[in-house]
Amino acid sequence: MFNAIMIDKTRAGSRAGVRSIDPADLPEGEITVRVDYSSLNYKDALAITGRGPVVRRFPMIPGIDLAGEILASDDPVHRPGDQVIANGWGLGEEHWGGLSQMARVHGKWLLPRPRGFSARQCMGIGTAGYTAMLCVMALEKGGVTPGDGDIVVTGAGGGVGGIAIALLARLGYRVVAVTGRDSLTEYLRMLGAAEVVGRSALAYTPRPLQGARWSGAIDVAGGKVLAALCASMRPGGVIAACGLAAGMDLPLTVAPFILRGITLRGIDSVMCPREQRMAAWARLERDLDPALIDSMCAEITLKQAITTAPQLLAGNIRGRTVVNTR
Ligand code: NDP
Repeated sequence: MFNAIMIDKTRAGSRAGVRSIDPADLPEGEITVRVDYSSLNYKDALAITGRGPVVRRFPMIPGIDLAGEILASDDPVHRPGDQVIANGWGLGEEHWGGLSQMARVHGKWLLPRPRGFSARQCMGIGTAGYTAMLCVMALEKGGVTPGDGDIVVTGAGGGVGGIAIALLARLGYRVVAVTGRDSLTEYLRMLGAAEVVGRSALAYTPRPLQGARWSGAIDVAGGKVLAALCASMRPGGVIAACGLAAGMDLPLTVAPFILRGITLRGIDSVMCPREQRMAAWARLERDLDPALIDSMCAEITLKQAITTAPQLLAGNIRGRTVVNTR
C-alpha cells in the first residue's frame, strides 16, 4: 500500500484527503515510479481546493509534477533504477498524478532527471520553473535581447515569476518585478530584479495605448494586468503569457498589435512537445543556479499540501513549495 492525496467527488463539489491506496488500483501505463518529490503549483491548488475545473475525472490523485525512481518498466527506453521527472501531460487532471508515493505513467511522459539537479531541486523548479524557461525562450525567439530595454515579470512573488526573474537576470536582462507584496522587495532583489514595483504600475485603463515602457514581458496574471501590459509595450515588444491569476478575460484593443507591432505569445507547458521540454530542462541546467532554487523553496508533506493549497491561491506563499512524499 502507498499514501497519496486523493480527491473524491462530493455533492458539494470535491474533497481532498491523504489515503492509503493499493498499487493494483494504479491506472494504465508502462512504467511504475516511486515518487520521491512532487510540488505544489497553482493548478494543483485549484484541484485540491476544488476552486477550478482542473480535475477531469474522479477519484483523482492531484500533482502535475513528479520526480522519482523507476520501479518497474515495460518500456524499452526506461529501465528500473532510472531517475526521472515528469511535468504536465494531464497528470493530476485526467491521469493520477505526483502528489503520491507511487505513480504509473506512460514512458513518453518521462524525462531523465537532469544531472545538475537533485530530485528535490527538480521539483523546486517543477512546472512553474519549466514554464518560466519556456517563457524566456519565447522572448528569445521573438528577438528580445538584453540590450533592448526592461523586461517586466508579473506575479513575481510566485513560482513562475520568481524563477523567470532569476533566469532573465542571469542572462543579462534588466528585470522589473511586479508584486502585490511590498514585503518581498529584498527577496526579489536577491533573485535578480533590478527594480521592484507594485501592481499599480500596471494599472488598467481603457486607453488603447499607454506610454511605451517594456521590451519584453512574462505574465502570469492575465486579465486586466495582461491588457495593461499589451498597451504599454515598446514597438516590437514580446509578451509571453502563461497564467490567469488575475482572470481569464482580456479587455484589449488591436492598437498595440497594429501600431506598435507587439507579439503576444501563449505558453502551454502541459502538452508541450518532448523536444521542447528537453531543450527547456537543458537550459534550466545551464542558466539556473541550484542554490538559488534551494533559497526559494519550502518543503512540506502530502498532508500539509492540502492545507497549503488555499494559502497559495490567496497569494500568501512565496516562491516554490516542494512536497516530500515520505
Ligand atoms: P503562484 O501562486 O506561485 O504565483 C502566482 C502569483 O501571482 C502570486 O504569488 C501573486 O504574486 C500573483 N497574483 C495573484 N493574484 C494576482 C492578481 N489578481 N493580479 C496580479 N497578480 C496576482 O502560481 P504559479 O507561479 O505556479 O502560476 C502562476 C500562473 O501561471 C497561474 O495562473 C498558473 O495556472 C499559470 N501557469 C500556467 C502554465 C502554463 O502552462 N500555461 C504553467 C504554470 C503555471 P505577487 O504577490 O508577487 O503579486
